[in-house]
Amino acid sequence: MYKLASKSVAERSIVRVGSAAFGDGGFVMIAGPCAVEGRAQIASTAEFVERCGAQMLRGGAYKPRTSPYAFQGLGEEGVGMIARASAQSGLPAVVEALAESQLSVLCEHVAMIQIGARNMQNFALLRAAARTHKPILLKRSASATLDELLYAAEYVLLEGNPNIVLCERGVRGFDPQTRNLFDIGGALRLKELTHLPVIADPSHATGRRTLVEPLVLAAAAAGLDGAIVEVHPDPGAALSDAEQSLDFAGFERLMSRLDAMVRPQFSLAACR
Ligand code: PEP
Ligand code: MN
Repeated sequence: MYKLASKSVAERSIVRVGSAAFGDGGFVMIAGPCAVEGRAQIASTAEFVERCGAQMLRGGAYKPRTSPYAFQGLGEEGVGMIARASAQSGLPAVVEALAESQLSVLCEHVAMIQIGARNMQNFALLRAAARTHKPILLKRSASATLDELLYAAEYVLLEGNPNIVLCERGVRGFDPQTRNLFDIGGALRLKELTHLPVIADPSHATGRRTLVEPLVLAAAAAGLDGAIVEVHPDPGAALSDAEQSLDFAGFERLMSRLDAMVRPQFSLAACR
């Protein structure tokens, strides 16, 4: 059994990354490009999403691409670029590690380390990432059961790192109309099984920018702890995940609708 991740240990745990607090009853938005592509791209995105109310910045520097011929990310140079954008915008950054050898650079420059879906059961990487004592964003593999995800989290907890946020990013379905199948029921079941915060990634779950806003609102309505979404200054020119990236106007609209939903302007007391 997963002893440390289980709800029997605590009702909820709060994971803090800078001023963002996952699991405190609020809804944390993480936004940024799929991949860091250049200094201006990440800096302008950071500045814009911060102004709209995002609390964290995302951007991959080491990209786990299906094809070895696809853009692989800017590596260490990309880490430097997102670190600078993070400092300028004041938003703590999350960046994915694909290998243990990348951890020391990430540890030095970013606030949170992502273990992506493809590495969810890379147990050596999980242990090494945990030992950095940085907060970990652990994404569910496209074919992992919830128990497998929780056992993966258990590896991190066993290393003495309590700061894990779980992420539902869609599982492999049968219908290519969406890139993956967003398992909101599974995400809610996770909230029953574990005290760890759970967030949603509607970008990778659907692969379609039109579905990102409604699924963020669904995640907030369902009581999840936040969402991570892809935003690009010019999605059509994005070097990865162009179809699922929001442009700035799309992100601004999402944030205003989310704000209206989580901070309702009306009071039900008037109905009683
Ligand atoms: C990502 O967030 O950049 C990513 C590759 O996601 P996932 O691991 O969920 O596919
Ligand atoms: Mn992506």
